[in-house]
Amino acid sequence: MSEEHNNQSEDKDKSETQSDSIDFTVVYPLYNEELMEERETYEDLFREVVDTGLCSGEGACVASCPAFVLEFQNKRPVIVDEEGCIKCGICTAVCSRYSVLEAAPRDIDLESIGEYKSLWQAYSLDEEVRSEGQSGGVATALMICAVEEEMVEAALVLQAEGDAMTSKSKIAYTKEEIIKAQKSKYVTFPSLAAVNLVRKNRIESFVYVGTPCQVTGLKYLINQRLDGLYHRARYIIGLFCMESFMPQPLAEIFRERTGGLNYAEASRVDIDKGRLVIHHPGRPEKPYRIRLRHFDKAMRPGCKICTDLTAEDADLSVGNVGAKPKNTVVVVRTHAGEELLNKAIEKGYIAAEPMVDKEFQLVVNLNRMKKKERARSIDKFIQEESE
Ligand SMILES: Cc1cc2nc3c(=O)[nH]c(=O)nc-3n(C[C@H](O)[C@H](O)[C@H](O)COP(=O)(O)OP(=O)(O)OC[C@H]3O[C@@H](n4cnc5c(N)ncnc54)[C@H](O)[C@@H]3O)c2cc1C
Ligand code: SF4
Ligand code: SF4
Repeated sequence: MSEEHNNQSEDKDKSETQSDSIDFTVVYPLYNEELMEERETYEDLFREVVDTGLCSGEGACVASCPAFVLEFQNKRPVIVDEEGCIKCGICTAVCSRYSVLEAAPRDIDLESIGEYKSLWQAYSLDEEVRSEGQSGGVATALMICAVEEEMVEAALVLQAEGDAMTSKSKIAYTKEEIIKAQKSKYVTFPSLAAVNLVRKNRIESFVYVGTPCQVTGLKYLINQRLDGLYHRARYIIGLFCMESFMPQPLAEIFRERTGGLNYAEASRVDIDKGRLVIHHPGRPEKPYRIRLRHFDKAMRPGCKICTDLTAEDADLSVGNVGAKPKNTVVVVRTHAGEELLNKAIEKGYIAAEPMVDKEFQLVVNLNRMKKKERARSIDKFIQEESE
C-alpha cells in the first residue's frame, strides 16, 4: 500500500513536468503572474544558497517547484529542465536560507529554545519500540498513535535503505511501516522533496518527523500555502539536532580511524557525550566511540550557520540530551503538540513525567553553546562575503 519515493526523484511522473498543463493558482494560491518578472529564480537561489554552502539540504525548494524542474542530486538541488522553469520565484520564497544572513543574526537570543507550553521526559510503552528507538522511542510511538487513533491518515518518515548511508522518504500507513523507519540517520537527506508524495497519493492528513531545518522548511512550504499543505500537515515532530554529516567525508574519516572499515555497514549509530558511537560488525564486541570533533570536516557546511538545536518551529520537539537512559525529552510547543502527547498518554502508547528544571538545564546549556558557536560562524561568513 505504501508508495516509495527516491530522493533523486527518479520516479517522477513525467506528465507532471508539463508546466503548461498546470493551473498554478490552484497549486499556489499566492501565485501572481504580474509579480513573476520581479521575482528571483533558481539561478539566484543556487548562487546565494547552494554554491555558497548555506544550503541545509532539506529539499523545500524541490518540493515547492510547481513546474517540477528541480531535483535533488548528489546532496544538492539541481535544475533538470532549464526551459521548463517558469520564473515564478517560489523556490526562493520557500528557502529559509535565502537572505538568512540579512536577517539580523546578531539578535539571536542565546537563552531561547523557542516558545513552549510544557517539558516532559517520556518513553514508549511498547518494549520493541523503546529498545529500537534512538532515545525512548517516543517519536515513533507518537506517530503510531496518530495513525492508529485515526488522528491522521499516514506518517511521512525517512527510512534507511539497507545501509547506514542511504535513506528514502516513505509514506507509512501502519505501525510496522513506522517502526521500520526508526533510529536516527546522522547524514542529511532532502526529506521535504517527498512532500510531493503526499500530494501525489492524495494524503489528506499526515504526521511528519524531521530535523529542525526540515521542520522549518516544511513551515515555509506551509506559509506559501503549497497545495493545501497547511491542512494536511497536522502534527510536526522536530528532532533536536546539533549537526549532520556529509556521507562521503564521514565515511572517509571513519575508514581512516578504524583501519579501513566501511561506515555504510554500521548497524547502529548514536551520539553520546560528545562522541559518535558506531556499532559495526567489524568489531562486534565493542562499538567505536569517536569524538565528534574528529568529524568536523564532514559536517554539512549548511549546519555551520544553523542556530536551531530544538526544532523551534515544531508542534513538539524530541531529543536525547538530559533524559534518563532510554527516555526522550519532549518539548510541547503548540495546541496540536499537546493534543498528540495527551492522546498518546491516554491511550497507553507512552509514559511521561514532567521534566524538572535541573534536568532541562542540559538542553539549555547545549542550546546556548550551539547558538553562540553558530552566531560566530555567521559573523565570519558575513565578513568573508563582504571582503
Ligand atoms: C542528525 C541528527 C542529529 C541529532 N542531534 C541530537 C543532539 O545533538 N542532541 C539530542 O539530544 N538529540 C539529537 N538528535 C535526536 C535523537 O537522535 C533522537 O532522534 C531523538 O531523541 C528522538 O528519539 P526517539 O527514540 O524518541 O525517536 P525514534 O523512535 O528513534 O524515532 C526517530 C524518528 O526520526 C526519524 N529520523 C531519524 N533521522 C532522521 C533524519 N536525519 N531526518 C529525518 N528524520 C529522521 C526516524 O526515521 C524516526 O522516524 C539528533 C537526531 C538527528 C537525526
Ligand atoms: S536550504 Fe532548502 S530550500 Fe534552500 S536551496 Fe537548500 S534545499 Fe533548497
Ligand atoms: S544542524 Fe541545522 S542545518 Fe544541520 S541538519 Fe541539523 S537542523 Fe539541519
